[in-house]
Amino acid sequence: MVVAIPTTPDQSPVQELSAYKTALAQYDRAVAHIDIDDGVKEFMRYPRREFAVNFPVRRDDNSVEMFTGYRVHHSTVMGPSKGGLRYSSHVTLDEIRALAMWMTWKCAVVNIPYGGAKGGVVVDPKSLSERELERLTRRYASELIPLISPHSDIPAPDMGTTPQVMAWIMDTYSMHAGYSVPAIVTGKPIHIGGSEGRIEATGRGVVVAMAEALRFKHGHFDATETSVVIQGFGNVGSNAAAHAHSLGFKVVAVSDVSGGIYNPDGLDIPEVRKYHAENGALEGFPNSQAVTNTELLQLPCDVLIPAALENQITADNAPKIRAKMIVEAANGPTVPEADDILNERDVLIVPDILANAGGVIVSYFEWVQDLQAFFWDVDEVYRRLERIMIDAFNAMVRTSEKYEVDLRMAAQIMGIRRVADAMITRGFYP
Ligand code: GLU
Repeated sequence: MVVAIPTTPDQSPVQELSAYKTALAQYDRAVAHIDIDDGVKEFMRYPRREFAVNFPVRRDDNSVEMFTGYRVHHSTVMGPSKGGLRYSSHVTLDEIRALAMWMTWKCAVVNIPYGGAKGGVVVDPKSLSERELERLTRRYASELIPLISPHSDIPAPDMGTTPQVMAWIMDTYSMHAGYSVPAIVTGKPIHIGGSEGRIEATGRGVVVAMAEALRFKHGHFDATETSVVIQGFGNVGSNAAAHAHSLGFKVVAVSDVSGGIYNPDGLDIPEVRKYHAENGALEGFPNSQAVTNTELLQLPCDVLIPAALENQITADNAPKIRAKMIVEAANGPTVPEADDILNERDVLIVPDILANAGGVIVSYFEWVQDLQAFFWDVDEVYRRLERIMIDAFNAMVRTSEKYEVDLRMAAQIMGIRRVADAMITRGFYP
């Protein structure tokens, strides 16, 4: 398939294994099944607007360093744009564009009233002191002020950002407004307007999606007989591991950037989390065997949960994957060529835009609670989260049967169809 890639004047066409190329290839495959005007199809391929900023930060030694940040609004058709902020030395405009587009389909597939956005700063947050991180965040937030508001674009945490980072953004925006604006970001600490359950939401939602997928595939399953491998032990991976473990699943391997640990009889996840918090690494955890991230993806298991970066499952390693099912906790972990190989091999893939939507669903609850200044307890949050995840999962299965496509295509078709219908009803301005 030939994929035409939109570029902006300052960008050369995106590279091989670019996340945006993956996002566009998935989009082009999905829209081929949908009967809509070519102009509408073309409209949804493009980000609505893209913002790049270079800004100075004073380091603790008094020197000044320049940083680059982005915010991309892919779509505002369904409501304000929504999506996280990533702090990583690997951030590129190409990656942020892809992540913004995935946010559009993600919000639409679970039917929450948002468009898609994403932002990021090219920085390794571990290379900064706490004070430097605060100065960088406040300066980046002040640069974003013309683009964000509780009714236009609402940031949230993503890789490398934390509830504390969200608190600094909320404070910076509020200082400019002259009053507190908690609904400007989600994923805040609970005592300044955050939601119960937000930290756990993505990982918990991944496990809800996994359980639905096991039921869909086998009719019935025994958690204690189901082995799970998780790549990534950040907020999403560690909370997915914890929730899976608490439901009795056998989490046999987990990893972080430096490598993984494996025990075919199952790992004691609460102990692993304690060990990881104390040592800053998984390596050396008792009663486990060290594995590399490459080996981890190829371990025999029932379910593989990639919960790290994009482009992890490629045409090279897809033939070697021994999992029977993949539940995508990361955004964009599987490239389209790997989808084809895994489909051929009958490995069921629960796509990212459904599997990891728990985070933005509870972000939506947080925003609603902030706007109403009326807060819910954690049971209410989890009950509503699970209902939305399960309804969306079932709708995705029905779509896959109707169009005779895999679950990724079904989720994409649902999301794209909803945005297209809204756009057609609203009409093209002027
Ligand atoms: N960064 C998360 C994601 O990729 C959450 C975004 C949000 O809560 O707005 O879905």
